[in-house]
Amino acid sequence: MRVVRSPNQDERPPGAAVSLAIIHCISLPPGEYGGDAIERLFTNRLDPAAHPYFRGIHGMRVSAHFLVRRDGELVQFVPPARRAWHAGASRWRGRSRCNDFSVGIELEGSEQAPFENAQYATLIELLRELALPQLAAHSDVAPGRKTDPGPYFEWDRLLAALAGG
Ligand SMILES: [Zn+2]
Repeated sequence: MRVVRSPNQDERPPGAAVSLAIIHCISLPPGEYGGDAIERLFTNRLDPAAHPYFRGIHGMRVSAHFLVRRDGELVQFVPPARRAWHAGASRWRGRSRCNDFSVGIELEGSEQAPFENAQYATLIELLRELALPQLAAHSDVAPGRKTDPGPYFEWDRLLAALAGG
């Protein structure tokens, strides 16, 4: 695992038991893989002049705990004990502000294309280590606002692997 520290993090509220993993996907520019734009976004170093899409997002203060690159590389931006800024306005089983009690995992990818085998392998290993009791899509906790990780993410495959130990 590679560690890149994001400044976009803070303390979790006192007593907030971390119980949920939230799966996202991101690619920057959208649909393009392999560059450093995601890491730049999460560290407030995205150059608004580098791509037209970046102009609209470069000032966002966002992060995730983890990013799984296309080749399966795991990058940590925020330690799970702290709060990353990934879910936004959100709600899960009656609790709002999901950032307070979740770990955010971004898969480098698009809602229009399949994810890589290496990404599932890394994600499964990570989720086993985190051992959180609940798992959701960003689209589950922010319905109507977010649609990631999208229809190509294979939940059955993930859940079967996690159930199989
Ligand atoms: Zn998301």
